[in-house]
Amino acid sequence: MHAAGTVNVKIGLEIHVQINTLKTKLFCGCSSNYRGMPPNTNVCPVCLGLPGALPVVNEKAIEKAVMLCLALRGKVASKVRFDRKHYFYPDLPKNYQITQYTEPICRDGLIEYEYKGTSKAVRIRRINLEEDPGRIVYERGDPRTSPFSLIDYNRSGVALLEIVTEPDFKEPEEVESFLEKLRSILEHLEICDCGLEGAFRVDANISVSGGQRVEVKNIGSIEETVKALAYELARQRDLVMKGLAVRRETRHWDPVRKVTLPARTKEYEEDYRYMPDPNLPPIPLTREYIEKLSKALPELPDQRIERMARQYNLTKPLAKVLVSRKKLADFFEEVVHIYPSNPRRTANYLVNDLLNWLKDEGLRGLYSKVKPEYLANLMRLLDEGKISIRQAKELAEHIAKRGIDPARLVAEMGMEKISDESFLSRVVDEVFREYPKAVQDALRSPKAVNFLVGMVMKKTRGRADPSITRRLVEERLEQLRSELEPQT
Ligand SMILES: [Zn+2]
Repeated sequence: MHAAGTVNVKIGLEIHVQINTLKTKLFCGCSSNYRGMPPNTNVCPVCLGLPGALPVVNEKAIEKAVMLCLALRGKVASKVRFDRKHYFYPDLPKNYQITQYTEPICRDGLIEYEYKGTSKAVRIRRINLEEDPGRIVYERGDPRTSPFSLIDYNRSGVALLEIVTEPDFKEPEEVESFLEKLRSILEHLEICDCGLEGAFRVDANISVSGGQRVEVKNIGSIEETVKALAYELARQRDLVMKGLAVRRETRHWDPVRKVTLPARTKEYEEDYRYMPDPNLPPIPLTREYIEKLSKALPELPDQRIERMARQYNLTKPLAKVLVSRKKLADFFEEVVHIYPSNPRRTANYLVNDLLNWLKDEGLRGLYSKVKPEYLANLMRLLDEGKISIRQAKELAEHIAKRGIDPARLVAEMGMEKISDESFLSRVVDEVFREYPKAVQDALRSPKAVNFLVGMVMKKTRGRADPSITRRLVEERLEQLRSELEPQT
């Protein structure tokens, strides 16, 4: 009825990524790994912004930023320059944030990703190196109802990359595919363990034709980004269709109520009074330095998907699922290293069985509970004929839920396949005694044999070796036939 599909949509993103693989913060010796520490214990005069404290830049952070720029085929700046961005907010003890304004460390990159089976590209406008502010804590995470605001400066000064895209997106789902690709690139460059809380944050600019640009801030994950964009798009389209104005404003995503809400009045660029930081003189980036880093670039996701598909005979979609998270692909390659036979089957058990059973725990559960040896042992038990496919699926559930080595489980639970013939023929005798009618049928019709075999499987809880069982049943029937013949 409405021409909603024809409304021109523009979505651009600013992604804040912590370089949390570094030992120290961007300008001081405090740890980058602040999670789990008591509040305000991972601080020093520099990251608390005490008067007279002097920042010293972390060279490894510059290295990571340059490598990301090279991986995205961007232009690396000739000098690293830092600026002060002034604003007054409790998360910022200095009343300014050290960031890059006049000259970002990287310009004009490109990220290619796949969406609905077609290849797409998003232009990267700039990448800035900056410091993370402190963290403000509210009761139940809600600033409107909380009676207090607490401030924790443990995070203050952690190195952050701000990645700014051009407004090239049209749909929230495209953004999802793009962010997953970006996350995988960041993980492969060992810039970010993006699964950690607060390590990967998104601000989005959204506009529809006939309205002004709205910025939605502080979205905490890829999944939430898609929800926030979908909500905000529907809100703006609704306003436009009713003939109401979409005002330029900043909104916040409320992940509990699943709505965007108006935030404090938007500061405009000039309000920040940017100025070069006099404590941090520009650092030249020489051609030799950039070439050295270019040679040191690790295998990136696209290359890894190609290689893994080829090397392990995987389908492209399966290789993509594995490479979408670096640790998942690493896990798979470790399993294959331990047990190299049939890697495609191993990949399927990993993606379809283990991850399926881990459900909400997902990859965290995999890394914390499951060892690569467990999956390798499961594959080995299958190949050695000690367990059936049905049992392998069952064991995958135990591995995922309880984190137990299947080799141990098989022994403990008596799951091993029964191929002992004298034991099985006793079970066959039992079945023949209990189902005389079925035996009569089986003597005439080969189809009825399946029922007898099935009963033996049932009595042994699926552990009887099916081919031995079938042979024993048929031998027993043959014997009966020969006993009956002379009388007819
Ligand atoms: Zn510090």
